[in-house]
Amino acid sequence: MTTIIDGDGVASEIRDALGESIETLAEAGARPGLATVLMGDDPASQTYVNMKQRDCEEVGIEGVHVDVDGDAPAEELYEAIEELNADPAIHGYLVQDPVPEHIDYREVLRRIDPAKDVDGFHPENVGRLVAGDARFKPCTPHGIQKLFEAYDVETEGADVTIVGRSDIVGKPMANLLMQKAEGANATVTVCHSRTTDLAEKTRSADVVIVACGVTELVDASMLSEGAVVIDVGISRVEADNGKGYELVGDVEFESAREKASAITPVPGGVGPMTRAMLLYNTVKAASITEDVPVELP
Ligand code: NDP
Repeated sequence: MTTIIDGDGVASEIRDALGESIETLAEAGARPGLATVLMGDDPASQTYVNMKQRDCEEVGIEGVHVDVDGDAPAEELYEAIEELNADPAIHGYLVQDPVPEHIDYREVLRRIDPAKDVDGFHPENVGRLVAGDARFKPCTPHGIQKLFEAYDVETEGADVTIVGRSDIVGKPMANLLMQKAEGANATVTVCHSRTTDLAEKTRSADVVIVACGVTELVDASMLSEGAVVIDVGISRVEADNGKGYELVGDVEFESAREKASAITPVPGGVGPMTRAMLLYNTVKAASITEDVPVELP
């Protein structure tokens, strides 16, 4: 019997627990504040920041949104960043990627106060993660770790294959799981577009995490019997369902579920966890900055 991992359910429990911590912070005069910055008008990015703002409202985090004109010079974005760095009501913020082509995203990340970098992408936070002393774990890999915890997926000693080496998913996922730490201690293989014989690497794994953005790249033939399958991918494909599109992952769900012992659906798997962990990092940032200890789920 294959377990369908309920990311919505686990994320909802995390949000409820965070709600209590937010109350504690608010009672101490330190309501957490999260800002989103969007440069330009990319529709997908707009949807993402709207969802993040809605999530804030639901749990009692003070949400602030900053729009920067897509044609503005980099300095205008840097000014917005400096203002947020200086604003005591903002404990965490993020600049939604992708930024327009004339903007150097790495330079943007370097300018964010690392203590407010709730995405965990500032070089200082990346370094701390690699060193096993994470301040903010990046939201998607952290959410996946929480799913493992919730579903008793043993990573210690497990062979984990990750498909994708992006800075936001693949690399931090590998770094987290290879740590000598609870919820980690895995033997990690990281694959990418130049990997030869991807199927051999995924078939030899106890846990397969796919984050490559290639629709249904991984199917049952690429999995071992009983593997745990985490599908990070989200792609929109045309569909005759009234909405005109549906969301699909990087795993061919229907075939993979026949072989997997546990698998995340798309949507409803990793996505809600990513959103919940952004709230988690914001609460953590507020707790550290304001020196008000709270329980984190
Ligand atoms: P990127 O495009 O930044 O990285 C994709 C990675 O996959 C790269 O390392 C690339 O290799 C690798 N790759 C591409 N094609 C293949 C292939 N055929 N075989 C093996 N590896 C391949 O993507 P992201 O990490 O940002 O996102 C991946 C997917 O996850 C997307 O669908 C995205 O929408 C989704 N996503 C979902 C989130 C969620 O919360 N559920 C959060 C973040 C992302 P190379 O490095 O060689 O180019």
